[in-house]
Parts: sequence; structure tokens; C-alpha cells
Amino acid sequence: MSCNHHPNSETLLQYSAGRISGLSRLMVKLHCKVCEHCQHAVDQFEQLGGQALESMPDTPVSSDAFANIMSRIHAEPTISQPRDNDYSALIERILTRGSNDKLNWHWRTKRFAEILLPISDDGHEAKLIYFKKGMKVPQHTHRDKEYTLVLKGSFADDTGEYKRGDYVCKSALDEHAPIATSDCICLAITTQPLKFTGTFGPVLNWFLN
Ligand SMILES: [Zn+2]
Repeated sequence: MSCNHHPNSETLLQYSAGRISGLSRLMVKLHCKVCEHCQHAVDQFEQLGGQALESMPDTPVSSDAFANIMSRIHAEPTISQPRDNDYSALIERILTRGSNDKLNWHWRTKRFAEILLPISDDGHEAKLIYFKKGMKVPQHTHRDKEYTLVLKGSFADDTGEYKRGDYVCKSALDEHAPIATSDCICLAITTQPLKFTGTFGPVLNWFLN
């Protein structure tokens, strides 16, 4: 399938070099699973990394340096691994099979449920979010970054529609009120709590954060 929204090149490069860990890494990995374009870019970054190392004749490099670096590139993350792994298989299953039957959703309203995932070692908060079709998230902006991977279904805001596999990054410059265009499950990582800005913003900032 093709995706319309992708991680930027810097994120793909950091992922290729093993610089992203935990659920952030899972998010990019799952996007690449359904996006040939980004998987191809990751393959090329890894290849370039290897070539760069090989073309350093004047630098003394120990015989196992290349193998060490490539094993780091391919290694699964070590940070937060035991806790994240509890969820990563379930999350992957939602993307690949559309299955969410074993999840213990915490319903906040009739059309909105969430599951708080363990906070990663970098302090970022991660959630699985379930919006029923037609559910509108109140207008909000972002104190920092909000990363979203659509695992199932779709949602839209005034910048477009986001479907299964799409990777979305919103920043403090983006204010939006997403609406689920079909029953939708997303993995969301926020580096700071959202800031609700509409009429009920002050109340929602207490209720939803
Ligand atoms: Zn992509």
C-alpha cells in the first residue's frame, strides 16, 4: 500500500543509524513495513553508512569496527525494551491484521478510548487512541511535538486525511481539530502535553492531559 505522510529524512537517517529507541523506533519501523518508499530510503542510508566506513583508508579502523556498527544499526533498541516489547507485538498486530481484541481500552467518552503506554526513558508519553467514526478531537495545539502513526482506519484535519500507515508529526506551529473519518486507532507520542485551545480548553487541559 502507499502512504501519503512520511517521517522526514532526518528521522529516517536517525532510525537507520540506530539513534531512535523505544516506541518512537517502533513507529518508524511499522511505517516502513507498509511504505516501500521509506523502507527503500532506510536501505539506502544503511548502504551509504557502510560505504562511508569502507572509504576511510587513512583512518585506522579495527577489523571488527564495521561489523560492530552494522550490528548496532540492525539491533533492536535496548532502551525501554522490556516494557515496550509488551505492547509492540499487539501494536503491530493492529496495523498488520486490524486486530485490537486483546486490548483493555479505557473509555473516556462513548466515542473515545485510550491506553496509556509506559513512558519511555526519554520522558515521552505514548498512548494508543481509539476514535469512533465521527469523533472530533477538540481544537488543540502542541507545546512541542506530537507524533502519530495511523494503525487502522483514518482521520482528517484541515491539512488532509491520514490513513493506515501514515506517519504524522505536528509541532507547536500546528493547531488542529482532527475528526475520525472511520473508526480509527492511532499510536501517539507526545513530547509535552497537548494544549486545548477552544472554548472549553481550560477544562479539557485538566480532563484529557
Ligand atoms: Zn513512508
